[in-house]
Amino acid sequence: MIPPGSGHPGDLAGPTTPVAADADEVVRLAGSALDLPSVDARSTVCRACPRLVAWREEVAQVKRASFAGERYWGRPVSGWGAAQPRILVMGLAPAAHGGNRTGRIFTGDRSGDWLFAALHRAGLARQPASTYAGDGQELIGTRLTLGVRCAPPDNRPTPLERRACSPWLVAELRHVLPTTAAIVVLGGFGWSALLPALAQAGVAVPSPLPRFGHGVEVALAGGPVLLGCYHVSQQNTFTGRLTEAMLDQVFDRAVALARTA
Ligand code: SF4
Repeated sequence: MIPPGSGHPGDLAGPTTPVAADADEVVRLAGSALDLPSVDARSTVCRACPRLVAWREEVAQVKRASFAGERYWGRPVSGWGAAQPRILVMGLAPAAHGGNRTGRIFTGDRSGDWLFAALHRAGLARQPASTYAGDGQELIGTRLTLGVRCAPPDNRPTPLERRACSPWLVAELRHVLPTTAAIVVLGGFGWSALLPALAQAGVAVPSPLPRFGHGVEVALAGGPVLLGCYHVSQQNTFTGRLTEAMLDQVFDRAVALARTA
């Protein structure tokens, strides 16, 4: 695990950054973070979910054979990108050997390969790939975030873990929503994590909550437009459930909304 203040390019935390040890402290520390860098820094040292802390650190110790020579991040992964985005992209959780290894969201795994290639085609990323924090990649008017910030076993956080992590997302949304015109939501988990967080961040969310689907578009009163998109996981991209053309269509729509809003 890379300790806070290590000089890692993705590390905003330092030795004095407060650490949340349980769900109540997540509420307190996320709610009292005065700016986006504070939300990012505080969330990347969080230890509120014992199962996820144990898993992310075990993965960082055991490693995948092909990355045996690397030092894994092994900590929560924060949102990343523009501080005042026009487009927000919402994912599920870091991959065990992707974000949990590199310390940057959607970086160093196959899902990220698909996502960054699409962002680059849409003019939202400087480079077509995102391989490691500090690789020169940059998002243009765009920010990536996620519903749960620690890599979960089998990519499945529990409802309790999702609720525990939600205050980090709510705090991030409060800072980025004023400029956000469109939110591309990758997958049903991201959708179900985002809608309650939006409501807590002060956005009027319809009741009953709209259901997730690829191509679903929901304009929130006085808020951004939500665009549903199948997740860029290999389960979808290998099987053809999600194609490059489908992904491009969603991002083209997000760009159009960002231009006209
Ligand atoms: S999942 Fe979220 S709340 Fe739980 S330990 Fe990780 S950062 Fe903290």
